[in-house]
Amino acid sequence: MEIRNLTRRYGDLTVVDDVSLAVMPGQVTCLLGPSGCGKSTTLRMIAGVEMQDSGSIYTDGQLICDTVYRIPPERRHIGLMFQDFALFPHLTVAQNVAFGLTGPKAEQRARVEELLARVDLLRYIDDYPHGLSGGEQQRVALARALAPRPRLMLMDEPFSGLDNRLRDEIRDQTLAVLKDEDAAVLLVTHEPEEAMRMADEIALMRGGRIIQQGAPYNIYNAPRDRDAVAFFSDIN
Ligand code: ATP
Ligand code: MG
Repeated sequence: MEIRNLTRRYGDLTVVDDVSLAVMPGQVTCLLGPSGCGKSTTLRMIAGVEMQDSGSIYTDGQLICDTVYRIPPERRHIGLMFQDFALFPHLTVAQNVAFGLTGPKAEQRARVEELLARVDLLRYIDDYPHGLSGGEQQRVALARALAPRPRLMLMDEPFSGLDNRLRDEIRDQTLAVLKDEDAAVLLVTHEPEEAMRMADEIALMRGGRIIQQGAPYNIYNAPRDRDAVAFFSDIN
């Protein structure tokens, strides 16, 4: 996935300002920055639920959106996972995971079982979501997002609703599953620890712009300016 020169304004305010970024298959890129810097707006434009004022978006080298051409969200082969991206309460776990699938029922079932086994939830396959813990629901949401084999996963602070005890474990499991599936992943967070733990590449964002980009330890060891230093000051 690649975005080129993406810009979005609300009135006089430029909330995403000439952002360019590439995410490779099998890699996790973290968009890391403080509240209000334009992370979610960037993701919404890639997902196709919000239009940019200028710039273009590509997946697999193919244009999916610029200011004159636009593939609708449901045809972008993008998986979504947001903090409050709830499961459908009236559907079973299996039906939730199968939601975006087409094709023969037996193949759908096999894919659902494969993913639920991968997130250790096969035993709940015919249960309804309300009986599951927050962390379990989160893992079902991951399975659901990955079921149609998206080439790109967009994740907007997906772990922020979880309590601290669970978070590291679920992050690690999520990362392992994402790597298995070989999707390109763009993960939004305002937590440096999360970016350091999960990212192959970090893009630091502030005031709508990417101020530095690179491998986590390069950024950590050689922050480019005081803004970049400020991000990591509370990590040990
Ligand atoms: P957070 O970490 O708090 O989620 P963020 O980096 O995701 O922040 P965005 O949600 O992308 O930030 O918002 C960027 C800026 O755009 C903010 O100043 C926000 O108030 C503003 N904004 C977002 N949506 C709208 C809108 N529909 N109309 C006007 N301003 C908006
Ligand atoms: Mg946000």
